[in-house]
Formats: sequence, structure tokens, C-alpha cells
Amino acid sequence: MESVSVIGAGLAGCEAAYTLAKNGIGVRLYEMKPFRRSPAHKADTFAELVCSNSLRSNKLDNAVGLLKEELRRLGSLVMECADKTAVPAGGALAVDRVGFSKLVTERIEAEPLIEVIHSEIDAIPEGPVIIATGPLTDGALMKAIEDLLGDSLHFFDAAAPIVSLESLDMTKIVRASRYGRGSDYLNCPMTRLEYYTFLRELIAAETAELHEFESKMVFEGCMPVEIMAKRGDLTLAHGPLKPVGLNEVKASDGKRPFAVVQLRQDNAEGTLFNIVGFQTNLKFTEQKRVFGLIPGLEHAEFVRYGVMHRNSFLQSPKHLDSSYALRNDPDVCFAGQITGVEGYIESASSGMLAAINLARRLKGLETIDFTRETAIGSLAHYVSEYNGGSFQPMNVTFGIMEPLEAPPRDKYERALAYSGRALERIDSILNVLNETK
Ligand SMILES: Cc1cc2nc3c(=O)[nH]c(=O)nc-3n(C[C@H](O)[C@H](O)[C@H](O)COP(=O)(O)OP(=O)(O)OC[C@H]3O[C@@H](n4cnc5c(N)ncnc54)[C@H](O)[C@@H]3O)c2cc1C
Repeated sequence: MESVSVIGAGLAGCEAAYTLAKNGIGVRLYEMKPFRRSPAHKADTFAELVCSNSLRSNKLDNAVGLLKEELRRLGSLVMECADKTAVPAGGALAVDRVGFSKLVTERIEAEPLIEVIHSEIDAIPEGPVIIATGPLTDGALMKAIEDLLGDSLHFFDAAAPIVSLESLDMTKIVRASRYGRGSDYLNCPMTRLEYYTFLRELIAAETAELHEFESKMVFEGCMPVEIMAKRGDLTLAHGPLKPVGLNEVKASDGKRPFAVVQLRQDNAEGTLFNIVGFQTNLKFTEQKRVFGLIPGLEHAEFVRYGVMHRNSFLQSPKHLDSSYALRNDPDVCFAGQITGVEGYIESASSGMLAAINLARRLKGLETIDFTRETAIGSLAHYVSEYNGGSFQPMNVTFGIMEPLEAPPRDKYERALAYSGRALERIDSILNVLNETK
């Protein structure tokens, strides 16, 4: 049986390589680290989480919670490793980023059918291939993809800073999760005066230099905090800093806070925390000065500053089918953020779907349509069929799934109905997969 080249050992590439191997297909997994790293990658291990350590909701009333459960049922390596390295995060699934990445690496290296090759790929290899080089794909490979498709790829994205717990002033910070769901977050409450002082400095702070298209192409889902602040005095107070569901948190004047900055645990030991929603492109010295105005962060040690990066994705509706394969050459597949799915788990899901159907094609079996009834399938259909205006990366939401025939009026019940239908469909797909393996 022909083996498959997988380029990139990120979230999508690891899930794809593992899925192919579990389907009996030999894999050459190419990863350019440690010889070369993108500006956002720091570790030598695979499936590195370059920004937040949160994989978002873990509940079935949320589409990304559903996506996780679908992946678990299908035998996902990323989900198995995430569950094993989870850290407390309320209703979300957050992981110890180092432990997670290390575990994925060990599991991939232990797979007898996967040969790991540490090398930068600069041309599209012959034979079946899954290209999963992520949002920071660049250089010769990016040029080769652009030449193949006749399109250019790019826009911008941003990451939040991480601070050490021991450097925080805990006399001003309250541990609590919203709506009484535990005490996983560190809350920095602000009075009205503290908020406006911070806002003024944030808006006036100096940003790092960026290249041509930055100002035009900021993705709403990862908008830098300073840009959000400029949209209106209350945009932050009503957005990531909203003081709701935190009754036990009081500001320095003893009253309900005007705004609350939340910090989320970033490693298993609980020694590092990221500032939720604070993706930023401020200069590092400005991050220290301006974020130091947040109560409790006056002397914060920044173990990683926020950064802003180019993000590259294909005009997928033009080129890909719902198995993430090129319409005019199904031996060439793409997976991960480069296809226009947005997010860690979405990227892993595309790697799995691309691999399942490539493996089936190579074995002479019919490919499987996951349909828009499942979260996995909805993303693939969205990416390959979107026909609105400008195509932009997409997180999974119930909104891209096949509408329910009789949707319950209650939002929570409706979400569970989407999830129930999806999981039934996944279970029937699993039966087919097991019968024809
Ligand atoms: C700054 C930034 C912040 C982000 N923040 C978040 C966030 O908070 N939450 C979230 O869900 N998503 C975030 N994302 C999106 C995130 O990148 C994706 O969710 C996820 O990492 C995509 O997985 P992937 O497998 O497609 O790519 P990656 O995880 O980037 O993996 C690509 C891999 O391919 C390798 N590679 C690249 N080129 C080559 C080559 N030519 N040859 C060999 N190997 C190569 C890279 O070294 C890397 O290991 C962020 C992205 C950026 C850039």
C-alpha cells in the first residue's frame, strides 16, 4: 500500500498521521522543528499550543464541546492527550501545554507505521500528501502552494501574554469562576477610575511594527486588546472584561467592579497564568507598563509577551472538497488552520477527517460524508462550500450545522438536540468505519 507524506507535526498533522497509521497506512511525517521554528513556535515537541492553553468548552451544549466528543469517539490522539493533561478551567478543557505536547510527541514517535523526519519541506512531494503546515506557512512551501493553486494566502492573528503567579499581588486578586463554577480563574477587579486610567494608557500605547496588510486584516476572533479598546470606551468592559457572574469579586472600593480582568491557569503546576482576551501587538515594554496598571499585576513577571503574526489560509471553497482534498487532485490534501478552520480542536478535526478519507481512497473504499449533522462534517462542508462574501477562518458553531427539523425554543435544549443528533450520526459512521477497516 502506498504510504502518505504528512507535512507539519502540529495539531492537524499529528492527528492526521496517527489516524492514517491506525488505518494501516505508512506515514512519513515531516517536521521542520528543531532546525527551524515559526515566530510563534518555541518548543521542540509536536502539537505545540502557540497561544492560549484552553481548548475551549468541554460541554455538549457548545459546538466545540460536541466536536471534542465526536473526536473522542473516533479515537482522536489529540483528545486523548488533552484529557490526560487537563488542568482546572471551569467548564472548559485547558491543558498543561508542555505536558500535552510532550505526550503527543511520545505517542507519535511510538507508532510503528509513522516515520518522523525532521526536515523543512520546500516543495509539494510526489504521491499522496496531507499538507498541515499551519497558519504560519511561509517561504518556498508557501510559494509552491500559491503556484499550485494560483492564489495568495494571508492575514493577521494575535497571542496573549503569560505571567507568573508568584509575581502577582494576590491581596488584590480573587479566585473564582463565573456563575459559581469553581475557583479556577484569577480575577483582577477594577473600579471605574482604574478602568478608565488603564483604557487611556492602552489606547495611547506604542505598538510593534507590522507589515503591509495588518491594519486591513485583523480576524475578529483573535482581535488585539488595544484595537478592541479603540472601538469604544465600554467595548472591553462589556466584552472580555465584563464583570458578570462574579458576585464574590469586589473592587478596591468594596463595591461591584466596573470591569474584571481574568487570568487563566496555563500549566499543570498552576504557576503560570495567561491574561484572557489580551492578545496584543503592544511593544514588550509597553505591555509591562500598561498591563501593570491592572490591579494585582503591578509587578507581574511576563514569562511570555503577547505577539502578533501573519496567518495564512487557502481560498478553500475554490479548491477543496469536503474531505479537504484538492478537487482536481485528491492525492493532495490539506488539514488544519491552513484550510480556514480556526482553532486547535477544529484543526485536529480536519486532520482526522482528511486522513480517514485519504486512507479509504487508498484502500479503494468509498469516502465517507460526515454530513452537516456532525460538527466535524459541518466544518469540512463550510470550508469547501462557503459561497458568501470574503471567505474567513471559522470556529465550529451550531450555526454552520444542518438546521434541526423541530428546533426546541430553549437555547440549551436546542444545543443538546444538535449534539444528540450529531453523536448518533457519528456512532453510525463509526459502525461503517469498523466494518470496512
Ligand atoms: C499567534 C497565534 C495565536 C493563536 N492563538 C490561538 C488560540 O489561542 N487558540 C486557538 O485555538 N488557536 C490559536 N491559533 C491558531 C492555531 O495556530 C491553530 O489553532 C493551530 O495551531 C493550528 O494547527 P495546525 O496543525 O494547522 O498548525 P500548527 O499547530 O502551527 O502546526 C504546523 C506545524 O508545521 C510545521 N511546519 C511548518 N512549515 C513546515 C515546512 N515547510 N516543513 C516542515 N514542517 C513545517 C511547524 O513547525 C508546525 O509544527 C493561533 C495562531 C497564531 C499564529
